[in-house]
Amino acid sequence: MSAVTRPERHGRQMLFARIGAAGQARLAAARVLVVGVGATGGAIAHALARAGVGLTLVDRDFPERHNLQRQTLLDDADVDAGIPKAVAAAARLRAIDPDLAVAAHATDVHAGNILALAAGHDVIVDGTDNFATRFVVNDAAVKLGIPWVYCGAIAATGATMTIEAGGKPCLRCLYPEPPPPGAVDTCDTVGVLYPAVAVVAGIAALEVMKLIVGAEPRNRGLLHVDVWEHIYQPFDVAARADCATCGRHVFPAFEARDGGDVLATALCGRDAVHVRPAGRGDAAAAVDLPGIARRLAASAHVVQTSAHLVRFEADGLTVTLFADGRAIVGGTDDPAAARSAYARWIGN
Ligand SMILES: [Zn+2]
Repeated sequence: MSAVTRPERHGRQMLFARIGAAGQARLAAARVLVVGVGATGGAIAHALARAGVGLTLVDRDFPERHNLQRQTLLDDADVDAGIPKAVAAAARLRAIDPDLAVAAHATDVHAGNILALAAGHDVIVDGTDNFATRFVVNDAAVKLGIPWVYCGAIAATGATMTIEAGGKPCLRCLYPEPPPPGAVDTCDTVGVLYPAVAVVAGIAALEVMKLIVGAEPRNRGLLHVDVWEHIYQPFDVAARADCATCGRHVFPAFEARDGGDVLATALCGRDAVHVRPAGRGDAAAAVDLPGIARRLAASAHVVQTSAHLVRFEADGLTVTLFADGRAIVGGTDDPAAARSAYARWIGN
């Protein structure tokens, strides 16, 4: 990557003494992996793009109208067009800055692809909405020696923590195990306010910039904010010697790596299941979406067809099939029912 600065665009940022021309050169040369481009990930990506940081965006989902209340990069037309969040967000960032390096992958992040996705990036930032993916990111980042920033927002609150390249402390020092499904509130059960997203994403984006520039102070503990109650509360997090990730280097997220069978994961609070068929979902050849849409038309109600997805209704379920073979099955939270619908309507 070129480290040429563009003062005509970033001059007021370079004027800030703790960034300066040298810091801007580092920002211009950096590449950040944004895992999840929903509310927090989109706001972080937006801030980093404006700051001149090259980005790789990864997201497995498509935008829905009820997302738009908390989005920075997605709009009504993206919902109607059925454009995956990563692709739509990247297009918006390229419109903001045509000279910025922005790549997009419409896929899910899991133990089988995170190491390849993360390679070559200077920082990873968390824009996900679930702890299963965060623990995959945590273990991969510590394993690769890449710093990462945890970020989440729910209701009027947000939380963020910066994990250094050495990984001490890491997210697993804070939470030794991911909370079980259903144990934590989600934005689909208690809602989420955009101002909370904006505040915590702003802090997380600045932490990414500080990591790249090499500036202090950084947020090495857990910072909790409540924008409704005017709370801004840092908590110390101690590195645990017995931490499986940063202490013992066992990396549990990779032990649970699926063996290649169909993987179905309930999307918490969404009444939907994400289905990833065996051997697909990364760089696999695209499925024939127009052919599948034609075949389905005889037996199911095809709602939407685009270059990126086919959405159809059958048996009381709404299935969104992506070009890489993944699907989100709405109308059920039962992985077995979703797998069965996938096999019946799409085949595997
Ligand atoms: Zn740890």
